[in-house]
Amino acid sequence: MIQHTDRRRSARAVFLDRDGTLIEEVGYLDRKERVELYPWTIDAVRALNRANFRIVLVSNQSGIARGFFSEAVVAEVHQHIAALLESGGARIDAYYYCPHHPDGKVEQYAVHCECRKPARGLVDRAVRELDVDPAQSFVVGDRWLDVELARAVGARGLLVRTGYGLTEEARRREPLAADAVVDNLIAAVSWILRNVAIADRQSPIGDRT
Ligand SMILES: [Mg+2]
Ligand SMILES: [Zn+2]
Repeated sequence: MIQHTDRRRSARAVFLDRDGTLIEEVGYLDRKERVELYPWTIDAVRALNRANFRIVLVSNQSGIARGFFSEAVVAEVHQHIAALLESGGARIDAYYYCPHHPDGKVEQYAVHCECRKPARGLVDRAVRELDVDPAQSFVVGDRWLDVELARAVGARGLLVRTGYGLTEEARRREPLAADAVVDNLIAAVSWILRNVAIADRQSPIGDRT
C-alpha cells in the first residue's frame, strides 16, 4: 500500500534491452554504422514518451570486458541511436549498460558485478537517478535474463520474438515465465499501454496499490 500521506508519485518506467529489442541484433556491435533500428522502433518509443513513461535502456555490453570495443564506442553508438530517435520525435531518457564480464580480458572490467543483467544494478541506478518505481514498471527484452531482471526488481517482464527471442521462447526456463511473449517492441508497447490503462481504471485516484 502506498501511504496516503505520500503524494509524491515515483515515475513508471520501461526498461528496454538494446540488441535484438530496440535495434537489430548483429553480434558484438562495434561501430555505429552497424546500428539498425527496427521499422517500428521510433513509433514504439514515441508512444511510451507520450504515455509519460521514463524510458531506460539497460544493456549488457561484455564486449568491453572482452576487449572487442571501448566504452567510447558504446557512447558513440548510443549518441547515434539518440539522434535517429530524435529525428522521429522519440527519446530515451537514459542509456545504461554493464561493461563487465567475469571472464573478460580487460582487467578493470573482469569482475563479478552488480549490474550485469539479470542482476539488478542498472535498475537500481534508475531508481536513484530518475526516481522510478520498479513495481509500476516493465522490462522488455529478447532474452530470458531480461525477464529474470523484471522478476528480480518486481517489475513486469515481456519477451519479444525479435533478436534471440524466438530461440529463447523455444527454450523454456521453467519456472520463469514472461508476463507476455509478443512479436516485437511495438507489440510490447501496445501490451503495456493496455495494461496500464486497465490498472489506472481499477485504482481510485490517490490510492494506488
Ligand atoms: Mg538483447
Ligand atoms: Zn556490470
